[in-house]
Amino acid sequence: MPEQNEDVLARRPAIVDALRRLVPDGVIAERDALAAYDCDALTAYRQKPLAVVLPRSADEVSAVLAFCHREQVRLVPRGAGTSLSGGAFPLADGILLGLSRMNRILEIDLENRCVVAEPGVTNLAITKAVEGRGFLLCARSLEPSRLLDRRQCRGKLRRNSLSQIRADDE
Ligand SMILES: Cc1cc2nc3c(=O)[nH]c(=O)nc-3n(C[C@H](O)[C@H](O)[C@H](O)COP(=O)(O)OP(=O)(O)OC[C@H]3O[C@@H](n4cnc5c(N)ncnc54)[C@H](O)[C@@H]3O)c2cc1C
Repeated sequence: MPEQNEDVLARRPAIVDALRRLVPDGVIAERDALAAYDCDALTAYRQKPLAVVLPRSADEVSAVLAFCHREQVRLVPRGAGTSLSGGAFPLADGILLGLSRMNRILEIDLENRCVVAEPGVTNLAITKAVEGRGFLLCARSLEPSRLLDRRQCRGKLRRNSLSQIRADDE
């Protein structure tokens, strides 16, 4: 575990109050509620963050980032928390910025196989949004996710990944 910043820990009540002014209905600071965010998919390590902030807009994200920069509070962003390597592991003296409420798909451009989405949108939500038109999102490790049409996808995925064939078939 990294060394903790005692100064930030001592300022916790004031930091939580300030965050509540920036994101009024999106701050979790109660110890029990923080347990839901104490790890990502690497469950061997757990630690509650100082607080969780759940913004709904880019403006709220900007306000939180500016605050953390000004107050020298560390911050870890988190999408769905499915990282298997502890990438979204929280810091006891830091803010966990949960982006799950930013879940709008902004633009679907099938011609260019391109979707513009907020950071809380899941792979499955994108597939659901395009499957009626014969597409799905092909998420594969070590490569950017790609939007494929189903015939194209079936041939390629059979060579690559059983779980993705199942996702395609379902
Ligand atoms: C059962 C299982 C199956 C999986 N299968 C696949 C697979 O087939 N293909 C694949 O590619 N991956 C797979 N993964 C890994 C995981 O799903 C991916 O890494 C996924 O893309 C992580 O997204 P997330 O939103 O959950 O990110 P998180 O786990 O929340 O975060 C991952 C990292 O990104 C940072 N981060 C998150 N959001 C932002 C943001 N908006 N801005 C800046 N940084 C950010 C976090 O701080 C962290 O370091 C699998 C995981 C599990 C548990």
